Formats: sequence, C-alpha cells, structure tokens
Amino acid sequence: MSDKPQGFNTLAVHAGAQPDPTTGARATPIYQTTSFVFDDTEHAANLFGLKAFGNIYTRIMNPTQDVLEQRVAALEGGTAALAVASGHSAQLLVFHTMLQPGDEFIAAKKLYGGSINQFNHSFKSFGWNVKWADPDDISSFEAAITPKTKAIFIESIANPGGVVTDIEAIAAVAQKAGIPLIVDNTMATPYLVQPIKHGANIVIHSLTKFIGGHGNSMGGIIVDGGNFDWSASDNYPKLSEALDEYHGVKLHEALGGISFAIACRVLGLRDLGPAISPFNAFMIQTGLETLPLRMQRHCDNALAVAQHLQNHDKVAWVSYAGLPGDKYNKLAQKYAPKGAGAVFTFGLKGGHEAGVKLVEGVELFSHLANIGDTRSLIIHPASTTHSQLSDEQKTEAGAAPDTVRISVGIEDVADIIADLDKALG
Ligand SMILES: *Cc1c(COP(=O)(O)O)cnc(C)c1O
Repeated sequence: MSDKPQGFNTLAVHAGAQPDPTTGARATPIYQTTSFVFDDTEHAANLFGLKAFGNIYTRIMNPTQDVLEQRVAALEGGTAALAVASGHSAQLLVFHTMLQPGDEFIAAKKLYGGSINQFNHSFKSFGWNVKWADPDDISSFEAAITPKTKAIFIESIANPGGVVTDIEAIAAVAQKAGIPLIVDNTMATPYLVQPIKHGANIVIHSLTKFIGGHGNSMGGIIVDGGNFDWSASDNYPKLSEALDEYHGVKLHEALGGISFAIACRVLGLRDLGPAISPFNAFMIQTGLETLPLRMQRHCDNALAVAQHLQNHDKVAWVSYAGLPGDKYNKLAQKYAPKGAGAVFTFGLKGGHEAGVKLVEGVELFSHLANIGDTRSLIIHPASTTHSQLSDEQKTEAGAAPDTVRISVGIEDVADIIADLDKALG
C-alpha cells in the first residue's frame, strides 16, 4: 500500500481491522468471551502492572472493542479511544478522570436533555459542579471560569435546536485558561465535523446515534486528541501524579498523547464498569462502514425537508443551520460544509396542540426518543426528552412547547415529505 494517508471512506471501512490472524475471518469476529489466557505468570504480571498492553478481562478491553476504538480514533484524527456502554457513560468516565470533588466545569446550555440532567443532578452528587454558558456568547465561557474550573464541554452541532457551535473560539478560551475542551460530536459525526482539528482536546460520542446508525445498539466512545498537557499543572492528579495502584507510574509522563484514553480505561472503566458488549461493538463497527454514505444522504434529505417546511403554511419557523439565511448558516459553512446534520426543529403555527396532532398523524416517521436511525424519527421534546427541565431550561435548550424535532432518515425524500404533508393536514 502507498504511504499516502488514507481517505475518510477507506478508514471508515478498514481502520483498526485486519483478517483474523487465527481463522482468516475477514469481518472482525465478535470475541464473545469474558477473559483471556495469559502466556505465563510474567505476562500476567506485566499486563496488570501496565508494563504491557493486552487483553485481560472484557470489562477493561476486548479485541472487538479494540477495532471500534481504533477506527473512531482514526476518523476523528485522535490518538486513541475508549469504547463504553453508552454516550452517558463516556461522559461519566471523562469527568471522573478530570475532576475531584469540589471542582467545576463549564457546559454550553444548548445540550442533549439527558446531559443537562446528568450534569445538574448526578454529577452534583459527586461534587462536580456545572456552570452553564451560552454557546452564542463566547464571553460567557470566559466569565464562568474560576480557579476551580477544570474543563469546558460543548456539542459541535447541538441537540435539538440546529445550533452550530464556534469550536475554535471556545477552544481559544479553554487554551488560555489551561483547561481541556471536550466536544460531544454525536450529532455531527466525524464525517461532518472533526473537532480535534479545530482545537478540541477530547471528543465523545453517543455511538447509539449516527455512528451505529441503525437504531439497534447502545454505545459510547471517548477519543483522546493527544494534544493536552496534563502535567502542566497539578489540576489533573489522576494523570500527573504517581499512582500507588500501578507501582507509582505517572500516566501522562509514561504514556504522553494516549494517556487520557488509558486513564479512562485503567481507572474509570476498571472501577465504574460501563463496558460495551462485544456484540454491540460489532454492530456499531458495521454501521461505521457506511457512515459517509448514510450521513450524506441524511444531510441531503434534511435540507430538502427543511426547505419544504420553510414554505409550508402551517409551519411558523424552521431552525436548520443548512438553510441559507439561518442564524447558524455561516458557522455551518465553516465547520460542517458537507451538511448541517439530520436533526432539526421547527415550530407549528398551531402550537402545542398542532405538534401533538402531527406526531400522532405521521406513518412513515416513528414517534420515539432517539435520533440517528436510518428511519425518520419525530418527537415533541417539551413533553418527552426535555420534560424533566423547567420551562426556562426547555426554551434555553431549544425545546420550547411549540417545537417539534425530527431526525431525517435515509428513505426517499419524496416519501418523507409526503408523510409530513399528510399529517400536517
Ligand atoms: C443520545 C445522546 C447522548 C447520550 O448517549 P446515550 O448513548 O443515550 O447514553 C449524549 N449526547 C448526545 C448529543 C446525544 O444525542
């Protein structure tokens, strides 16, 4: 093979995988085993002491998961990755690795509703304190920084409101403060946006959505950008200080650019335990192979549906960053030139009641709480995904009561539009 770096489509199919060395199986097998035999006692001791990398027990590492990790790391331009049971557990392990009780982090207000809950409630009970900032106002991130701030968390394309975040501007704030920028890239996928190229240090995904892509498997992943100096301060002791449990090793000093992913694995995943099953890792890998094809179709269909709704007399507004003239269109052109994703919101002139009628009237669309399926999906966020938030939080998160969210699938766009038209009446 040539030395030329491989393109995205090639990496999506091949990165991290080779024919199985024992059987010649071409597709990566599902290594459905809990544990792996050691060569001898020295090998076992080296694996446990982090002197050698290798498989011990599937909670910590498994060959099927390994291929998924290498592939997503390659597609994101990261150094290493850690696959876990869900997007939320990826977030848990990222913050567990960075924060001590009493620490703070800043998060963009426009986030997946589940993340808002996780940060406001469960994380607070660990003593990890979120401060909210407005992704449309970069100075609000700067203003929220205190000596206790250890990280900034944003979404690249934010759920559910069609918001595109100015990653470079926020990365500059993080860099100036000496703290890492974490980007949830679930809605964009690396096909549309590669946050590490724009200055992000850590990327996380819910693999459950577009990367798996078929609405059949839960998963999450943490990608290490390899571009943050965890030893520059004593703010990140799990990375910079000697670990008694591993014979005094300092992870960042010993492992450099892959130390964050390793810390999430050998401390967070080891102790908190949200491992992805080999079967789900296999399903998600299979999904990844067609990610570029699917995402382009998702985006093309979404733009056509958004344009149609914009001209529909029952529709009050459409918030899709791919539409010329949209508030976020300039940022979309910069960060996501191939398309602004497949998920967006629109408001009905008939308000809440019309939203309910639409959701009940569609047939091709499925009414459910997910995004990033091959199938077109619809939901009324205010009464479902965002229902645990206050009215003010709902509006801030882009989920006001008149709002309907759709995740446009890869069916024929004429059929998608016909289904909406019929249900809109
Ligand atoms: C779904 C989602 C999550 C949570 O992922 P799970 O796999 O459901 O745990 C996090 N962020 C975004 C943007 C999501 O859409």
